[in-house]
Amino acid sequence: MLVVMKADATKNDIDRVVSIIHELGYRAHPMAGATRTAISITGNQGAVDATHFENLPGVAETIRVTKPYKLITLDLRPEKTVVRVGDATIGGEELGIIAGPCAIESRTQALTIAKAVHRSGARFFRGGAFKPRTSPYSFQGLGEEGLKILAEVRDTYGLKIVTEALDVAGVDLVERYGDMIQVGARNMQNFSLLRRVGRSSLPVLLKRGLSATLEEWLLAAEYIMAEGNYQVVLCERGIRTFAQHTRNTLDLAVVPAVRAISHLPIIVDPSHGTGKTAMVTPLARAGVAVGSDGLMIEVHDEPENALSDGPQALTLEQYDQLVHEVRAIHEAIAPVLVS
Ligand code: PEP
Ligand code: MN
Repeated sequence: MLVVMKADATKNDIDRVVSIIHELGYRAHPMAGATRTAISITGNQGAVDATHFENLPGVAETIRVTKPYKLITLDLRPEKTVVRVGDATIGGEELGIIAGPCAIESRTQALTIAKAVHRSGARFFRGGAFKPRTSPYSFQGLGEEGLKILAEVRDTYGLKIVTEALDVAGVDLVERYGDMIQVGARNMQNFSLLRRVGRSSLPVLLKRGLSATLEEWLLAAEYIMAEGNYQVVLCERGIRTFAQHTRNTLDLAVVPAVRAISHLPIIVDPSHGTGKTAMVTPLARAGVAVGSDGLMIEVHDEPENALSDGPQALTLEQYDQLVHEVRAIHEAIAPVLVS
């Protein structure tokens, strides 16, 4: 159930609704919007009795939730969520660019790439310290040593660090060194991991599973939010289809599809979404044109020697050119975008 407060409801009115929800043994999720606060209720098995709330001061109406979503939905929060990572944002006016290598390979590699990412004006640096590789014999990442290098990148360039936690234990480590926790495509339905990052104070980048429907993806975001972490960014990274000309099929139609349902920001990853360097920039342009809130781009100073995902990495020069192009598109469409 959703308890919608009146525009002039006081903090006391809201607190009262929240404490009644707690007394009933449920969890309250108040979301302040531009015009009103709405409070979603989770933790109930059956229907919640609306008479608990209907006549309370400040309550405008109660709405029974018939959709599978309680928290990601525009019904709860009609305005877009802006995810804040320190002084950087995703989902606001700025185009959120997260760039860096697939994996952290060495201090020199990371700092060389980070210098270019910083120079481009991007606010976020990516790089895996724990890598989910298809083969157990492939490079698995530097582990905690990689995280320490990432922390040095942050200290040197002020970039926000986005890095993947592969499992529940890894979240503790990422919390120690990073600024935003990436949940990878292969973990999109790892429910214990989703619950754990839902209890983190760091924002979460939730990649779409390789075969996930939109509903499954949004319900994965619900898992995180239901634990109280509302700072979630969705990332479209391509899905499995019969297409053989790309590594994955980048589903750009999912951007407006998400917009029609959810207030959460969504970014596009054309690197994993195509798997081919030559296709990354064209699809990045398209991702921005379709209205995404940002991009995740893999960049390497020596793609031919990369320990993972070299065939989809941009060189530093190609990356610079990409940023130049997508910023022009973003500036051109921003004034005409309604959402
Ligand atoms: C990555 O970002 O390097 C990665 C492994 O992504 P995905 O989970 O989308 O495959
Ligand atoms: Mn990768």
